[in-house]
Amino acid sequence: MFQINHNYQKLQAGYLFPEIARRVNAFSEANPDAAIIRLGIGDVTEPLTPAVLQAMHAAVDEMAQRGTFKGYGPEQGYGFLREAIAEHDFRARGVQIAADEIFVSDGSKCDTGNILDIFGKENRIAITDPVYPVYVDTNVMAGNTGPADQSGRYAGLIYLEANEQNGFVPDLPTEKADIIYLCYPNNPTGTVASREVLQKWVDYARENDSLILFDAAYEAFISDPEIPHSIFEIDGAREVAIEFRSFSKSVGFTGIRCAFTVVPKELQGATADGKKVSVHQLWNRRQSTKFNGASYVVQKGAAAAYSEQGRAEISERIAFYMNNARLLCEGLSRVGIHVFGGENAPYVWLRTPAGTTSWDFFDRLLTAAHVVGTPGSGFGAAGEGYFRLSAFNSLANVEEALRRIEAVL
Ligand SMILES: *Cc1c(COP(=O)(O)O)cnc(C)c1O
Repeated sequence: MFQINHNYQKLQAGYLFPEIARRVNAFSEANPDAAIIRLGIGDVTEPLTPAVLQAMHAAVDEMAQRGTFKGYGPEQGYGFLREAIAEHDFRARGVQIAADEIFVSDGSKCDTGNILDIFGKENRIAITDPVYPVYVDTNVMAGNTGPADQSGRYAGLIYLEANEQNGFVPDLPTEKADIIYLCYPNNPTGTVASREVLQKWVDYARENDSLILFDAAYEAFISDPEIPHSIFEIDGAREVAIEFRSFSKSVGFTGIRCAFTVVPKELQGATADGKKVSVHQLWNRRQSTKFNGASYVVQKGAAAAYSEQGRAEISERIAFYMNNARLLCEGLSRVGIHVFGGENAPYVWLRTPAGTTSWDFFDRLLTAAHVVGTPGSGFGAAGEGYFRLSAFNSLANVEEALRRIEAVL
């Protein structure tokens, strides 16, 4: 019989979000009148802003005319969008990234998984704990790990613990890591990494010939002017880092789908016989072969987010979500809950009350307050005893959720 990819057999069954859905469905079937408020999955709730919407309507109309109809676009993205990204996301912050170092795609989840196509199986991979589960599972699928142990940790991966003591920014690995995943502002902890911390990581990568895969999906939520938005704001990062960005959370494109990956031309990896190869060329080859570009209509919408009107609308939208985050932090603190994050990221990470596991707290909030959050343990063993609430919801729902939480805690 034909064989499957045996690595899939190593994947831990109870993936976090299906298990949440299972418990929520069971509860709402038993309690059909309960008005459940979902602050669980990190999905936006607010509709597209006018500038983005108008640009997408106009792009659809272009598709309706022979003279302006578009077929396949460039696999790397249209020049108009790559230029707008280089200008507004990088040059405006004093960072030199060329438009052709930007690869537009249909999502950062896909990019962070797909990037493994161009790297060898010999690499030692380091991830933080807790972590965005995609980094782990894509490495399992790619055969970069052994089986999982009782605690759900995979053999062969280096786990870097993020905890209260280190401010949820892990210490450098004590063993040599070839590829390191960092995500700041962080999902799930909502915490950020300072310039000094990021410099330490870049220096480590340079000393060890390692690669940093930097996920900046939440950079638009940074309000503190001292916090870098890009790994490329750090000296020396161009030789050791790839950055992932997404329009999902900032522009509200979780359903529309558009993101990009920055691969500097200086970045080089090694062949088996020690020769150096351009990673930019490898990624270009991979994308040209396996990807046919993001939709023109979608790229027009993304580009409109960089217009003057677009930027004003998006910053208003982000301020709206971040006001929710502030209310969550304040409200939870009032009832004696210890909170982290929520200042430069749309996630509030809270310490569950003493003696309460992450899943206990999940069940308690669901059954007593009809509020859904995400158990910290679902993001890794080090997330046990913590819980994530998302700021993506209406103001009315956030206020109502807080009233209920305050009443039951
Ligand atoms: C939401 C999110 C992304 C964005 O993924 P898309 O596929 O672009 O929607 C990337 N990384 C993290 C950590 C996220 O939470």
